[in-house]
Amino acid sequence: MKRAIYPGSFDPVTFGHMDMILRSAKIVDELIVAVLINSAKNSLFSIEERVSMLEEMTSGIPNVKVRSFEGLLIDFAKKMDASLIIRGLRAVTDFEYELQLAQTNRIVNAEVDTMFLITSLKYAYLSSTIVKEMASYGGDISQFVPEQLIERIYAKYKQ
Ligand code: ADP
Repeated sequence: MKRAIYPGSFDPVTFGHMDMILRSAKIVDELIVAVLINSAKNSLFSIEERVSMLEEMTSGIPNVKVRSFEGLLIDFAKKMDASLIIRGLRAVTDFEYELQLAQTNRIVNAEVDTMFLITSLKYAYLSSTIVKEMASYGGDISQFVPEQLIERIYAKYKQ
């Protein structure tokens, strides 16, 4: 039984994340989408909102679960009995940080490996930051995030 963790901020979840989830869920037996509770990072959505958005978006994929976690990813992976961490690579700019992170994690726990999926070409440019930037100016975000989330994202900027 291969259980993997797909960690991130998901603030908010984009089509890029959904593509990663769908592809990863086909590779492993069970995928845990893990939302990082990061008090230092100023997030637009609360942890509860991010978890519930992801739960809504993944409810049709039977082998996907959504959890939140605090602290070290590698500790969370161990706690969940997961042997794999999945990360996405968009551009070379992602590479250096991801390499460091994956190597550090392997030093801490060699039983847990990191696997990278190369972004789908059509989402290569897409990040949560871009979505927030566009939404803050009232721009069209329908090509970036699932339809059900659009109003919730705009609402954050109307408050
Ligand atoms: P983090 O703050 O950990 O980078 P994100 O929520 O931004 O969290 O991203 C979570 C993961 O999803 C990361 O591995 C990131 O590289 C990947 N990811 C984000 N956007 C895309 C995309 N458009 N295509 C492929 N992978 C992506």
